[in-house]
Amino acid sequence: MSSLKIAIQKSGRLNEKSVELLKNCGLTFENYKSSLISSVSNFPLEILFLRDDDIPEYVQDGIADLGIVGENVISETGVNVHFLQRLGFGKCTLKIAIPNESELVQINDLEGRAIATSYPNILKKYLSDNQINATIRTISGSVEISPGLGLSDAICDIVSTGGTLKSNGLKPFADVMSSEAILIGKNGIEEEEAVKELMQRIQSVLKAKETKYVVLNVKRENLQIIVDLLPGVKSPTVVPLAEEGWVAVHTAIQERDFWEKINKLKAAGAQGIVVMPIEKIIM
Ligand code: ATP
Ligand code: ZN
Repeated sequence: MSSLKIAIQKSGRLNEKSVELLKNCGLTFENYKSSLISSVSNFPLEILFLRDDDIPEYVQDGIADLGIVGENVISETGVNVHFLQRLGFGKCTLKIAIPNESELVQINDLEGRAIATSYPNILKKYLSDNQINATIRTISGSVEISPGLGLSDAICDIVSTGGTLKSNGLKPFADVMSSEAILIGKNGIEEEEAVKELMQRIQSVLKAKETKYVVLNVKRENLQIIVDLLPGVKSPTVVPLAEEGWVAVHTAIQERDFWEKINKLKAAGAQGIVVMPIEKIIM
């Protein structure tokens, strides 16, 4: 079979995490900044390094079989591609923001106003869903300076921490869409064996990221309380310690309820708690 091609961002906010994800999947390749294409030596895959804006169309047209790109870019380009997997990085929100001193109060107040954005299609749909008539001014960069220049009453742009808004005297006004990096494929590619294999590897890497490996010591008389607190991968492994009456418990804990669980375990008599990252979980 000929190699699959996956398109990832050449440089920018998604590049590093995309490369890291593929490497964590056990793929070996050179990450030359200067080249457009890199071959994976231990998997039938070639990596294309592109501008993120070009990725959806390359995948739709089959020039690449797979791509990693922000949902915001997919929505904006309106391409017909297959959504394979959310990847949990590149999280951000497309927001409407207004100057701090603006008199606008609710989203209907945008009626008849001008909004600057690099996402005219997403904004157009949002405005029509909310039955607002406003002028969309499409600009390709530095959208946040446009109200200060008198070009618009509001902007619609990507926000992650809000620092850029603040430093330009703007405040969030409405959320338009939330986004994260996503793996897309050309329609039908999900049936290919190599794609299924790659997806399985990606899912095991993502699953491992959500989980921590925990080892703790506890007196045997308190073991049952600890076990009840720990619905692990299946059930915890319990190993006797050299010291009479003590055991070590090995288990996995979900990252999201980590602190709550750890505090309950301590309260139940757990000692010497060691927490380790997990590389992969194969289900
Ligand atoms: P390219 O040169 O590839 O066109 P770009 O400048 O358009 O890059 P980046 O700024 O690198 O794009 O952002 C890539 C993606 O990262 C965005 O489309 C979005 O999905 C995501 N992202 C996450 N946080 C942010 C943020 N604070 N600002 C912009 N994009 C963000
Ligand atoms: Zn771009």
